[in-house]
Amino acid sequence: MLENFSANLKHLHRISTTNYEDFEALFVDYLETGCEILGMQTGIINQVNDQSCTIIAVRSNFDKLSPGLELPVGNTYCAQVFQEKRTITYVHVGSITAMQAHPIYQELRLESYIGTPIWVNSEVYGTLNFSSTQIRNSDFPPQEQEIVELMAQSIGRFIAAHQTAISRQQVVEELRRQNQKSQLFAELTLKIRQSLQLEEILQTTVTEVQSFLEADRVVIFRLWSDKPGKVVSEAVVAGWPVILGQNIDDPCFREQYQEKYRQGRISTITDIDKAQIAACHAELLSSFGVKANLVIPIFQRSELWGLLIAHQCAQARQWSSFETELLQQIADQVGIALAQSQLLEAVRESEQRFRTMADSAPVLLWMSGQDGLCTFFNQNWLIFTGRDLDQERGNGWSEGVHPEDLQQCMETHRTAFNTRKDFQMEYRRRRADGEYRWILDKGTPRFTPDGSFAGYIGCCIDISDRREIEQLKDEFISVVSHELRTPLTSILGALDLLASGVLRSQPEQGQRMLDIAANNADRLVRLINDILDIERIESGKVMMTKQVCDGANLMNISTELMRNMAQKAGVNLSAVPKSVRLWADPDRIIQVFTNLLSNAIKFSPPDSTVWLRAQLQEESEVTTDDSGLSVEARQIVFQVQDQGRGIPADKLETIFGRFQQVDASDSRTKGGTGLGLAICRSIIQHHGGQIWAESTLGEGSTFYFTLPVLQEEREALALDPTKPTVLVCDDDASVRAVVQTMLKQQGYQVIAVTSGEEAVEHAEQDMPDVILLNLMMPSMHGWETLEALKANLETKNIPVIILSGLMPDARESPHPGVSDWLIKPPDERLLFQALERALTKPNHQVKVLIIEDDLDLAQVLVTLFEGYGIETYHAQTGPEAIELSQRVIPDLLVLDLILPECDGFAVVGWLRQHNRLRRVPLVVYTAEDLDQSERELLKLGQTLFLTKSRITPEEFEQRVISLLNSIVQGREGESNHESQTHSDY
Ligand code: ADP
Repeated sequence: MLENFSANLKHLHRISTTNYEDFEALFVDYLETGCEILGMQTGIINQVNDQSCTIIAVRSNFDKLSPGLELPVGNTYCAQVFQEKRTITYVHVGSITAMQAHPIYQELRLESYIGTPIWVNSEVYGTLNFSSTQIRNSDFPPQEQEIVELMAQSIGRFIAAHQTAISRQQVVEELRRQNQKSQLFAELTLKIRQSLQLEEILQTTVTEVQSFLEADRVVIFRLWSDKPGKVVSEAVVAGWPVILGQNIDDPCFREQYQEKYRQGRISTITDIDKAQIAACHAELLSSFGVKANLVIPIFQRSELWGLLIAHQCAQARQWSSFETELLQQIADQVGIALAQSQLLEAVRESEQRFRTMADSAPVLLWMSGQDGLCTFFNQNWLIFTGRDLDQERGNGWSEGVHPEDLQQCMETHRTAFNTRKDFQMEYRRRRADGEYRWILDKGTPRFTPDGSFAGYIGCCIDISDRREIEQLKDEFISVVSHELRTPLTSILGALDLLASGVLRSQPEQGQRMLDIAANNADRLVRLINDILDIERIESGKVMMTKQVCDGANLMNISTELMRNMAQKAGVNLSAVPKSVRLWADPDRIIQVFTNLLSNAIKFSPPDSTVWLRAQLQEESEVTTDDSGLSVEARQIVFQVQDQGRGIPADKLETIFGRFQQVDASDSRTKGGTGLGLAICRSIIQHHGGQIWAESTLGEGSTFYFTLPVLQEEREALALDPTKPTVLVCDDDASVRAVVQTMLKQQGYQVIAVTSGEEAVEHAEQDMPDVILLNLMMPSMHGWETLEALKANLETKNIPVIILSGLMPDARESPHPGVSDWLIKPPDERLLFQALERALTKPNHQVKVLIIEDDLDLAQVLVTLFEGYGIETYHAQTGPEAIELSQRVIPDLLVLDLILPECDGFAVVGWLRQHNRLRRVPLVVYTAEDLDQSERELLKLGQTLFLTKSRITPEEFEQRVISLLNSIVQGREGESNHESQTHSDY
């Protein structure tokens, strides 16, 4: 015992007098000595701060206990030493119930223990502990406790003496570690940042982290709030399970950990077998072979995006704070990369959107950089130019600029670029098909958000059509103003002379002046009409009101209209009408004929002949046009031939242009506007035909135009316009045959149909003069047929004679739509009388009602009609017209549309309501241009539309009187086509 004591003292003396070089040497010696003195195997020097306890030096047989090991204070025997700040001893831990569950006891079975605080500068710095797996028989004697306390004091003093040195060293060490960390971090982030591809970034991260930590597996685990997480990247040492791509639905993870990670928690587990983690979680980890792990949340902005996880599989692993800090920084970098890649994605998307927009914009777009060189052209640009991006890039685009415009174009560009200003220019650019098109190019400088110049963006549109229109407009205005001023000057001059009275003594001169004024006024009117006409046709405002019409009929009307002019010019007019069915607007075709005929007459010498002919082309192929009618591909060619001065070959085409004349003096000497042929061409083109001229100078010219021929459906359709046509509708074949024979013998033309439906169809198509209608028919009854005929504006005026086996019902008043009733079998005499009656109006004094608010014009019209011995009435307002028409029951109305109180439409509307008036023939004589729907609203009986000033007074007279004649004489000698024509002059 004494021996021991003296040996111990020697030891103590030795260690207290030894000059240790460093801590390590001191610690090793003290622990060694302590163990020897106490007869225990394990000695530990701890540093203790609040909650954790770090081993600074150790002497032990246990591998687990190593310097640097950090344990929660509660998990060590020294907890009480630290707490009570005094020496604590246990001789048999296993016998203390409270200690049996202690982790150290559980793990290492240390039964005996002595620990004492190490004081440094009046504070407990740490503890000096000795322990053994041996149970001690007796308590630690006081001298042993004293020795341990003395050693602790000595260590404390040594630490205090060296603390300044230690902290300096720690700083250096810390700096070194920081440096290493930032170097590592820099290397890693550089690698991570090298890519902007998210997948690549994540893969680099796991690979780099794995190799740096020398961990067995590093993964990035993507988390979602609404579905299982997924391993999206992995770097794993061969031999351990690959878990890449696995969806991991770990409910206990979600419940217990996800929220903590969201709050930024980092988790380190040294050994999952010993860690206090949920069993299910431990199970999952061990299924991946995990022994130790380190988990760091990755945030994208402030949202938890996923986890950066390091696994150690081979054995447990103590993760150092250095490692966790580094990984945390890397996780932050990944978060930044994620945000960046999201931004990049957004930029890509917006770029894509821009591209789609640029490519689908119906304009040509270009973009250039600061250097003025173009970098971008949209799809439409490339399509337009027919070149590719490489050809256009830089200054390549300038190759497509018209050589004459190039210099100006480049200069505008350059000046704008130098001054950074918007620019706009017009130049010609070659299109893919080689044609140069006028382009409007607008450029705007671009600036980056910080305000520095980035280049230009520009937009081009094809303005060729606009320029052409502008050019036409300019030309038009200059021609029109010239054309208008010239006749106006003559009119004014002539009228001035007359008004001054100087010619009063020279009546011949006066008359000449009047003629000049009248002729020039006439020329002005024609010019205005032609200008309006061509404008309306070409802009599509005038609908061609096409109907079935007969070519011969149109030729005849046109020849009649021109006869007067030909006579005055001493020119023979020779027409060879050709009967052929056409689908055309008769008025417009007549307009073409009269224009060609008047030209031919104008340019023909006296005693020469102008021919009007027609010829059918041979080949025929049936097609259907847009209105659903069968049209033969066969065409009819009309010809107007003269023996005049002829047209030079180079003018044969140009004369069809606006204001084009062979000789500028033609308009003066021959009258005319140079618009006639342009109008003709428009009209013919609207009919699907062609118009052209052939000529031999000095011998004459021939104008040709073609029109498609309507397919001949029935023989009966080649109707002779000079004979009255009767439509016979009867389902009985023998009745049809008998009636047909009777009628033909009497010189009528017959269209025989077998049903009401057919009757309605043919009545509209062929416009017969009378309809003979049976009543008892299958399918559509006679009365229904009658109703349908009367409901149709086109057919309601065709007289209908009932030819029936039934007697008319004596009790009922005669049906208003029926002009006669014959009983089958028809008596020949009664039949012809009934037909005569239907075709002829009762012979009475003809009455015309003129509704016109302009008193001068009304006076002219009244005089005109009275000249024919016609009883003429005049109403100045709508109500007056209504009142007069009830009293007078006129045979013809001449109606102006713009009237005081109520207009012409209202007058017609009222007349339509009244049986006796609703079929009165009407001439609408107005200054307005009416469209089809307005015309429909204005139709009464036979209705003519004549436009004031478009039609000369002579023409008006001719048209209206011939209409009156046809009314008075029934329709003898005139075809329905003409009388139903809605003329528009
Ligand atoms: P205008 O109203 O001047 O007759 P057109 O367009 O009808 O206008 O005709 C244009 C020009 O074509 C005429 O001015 C004339 O120079 C020439 N022309 C037309 N028809 C004939 C023809 N039959 N013979 C000779 N020249 C013609």
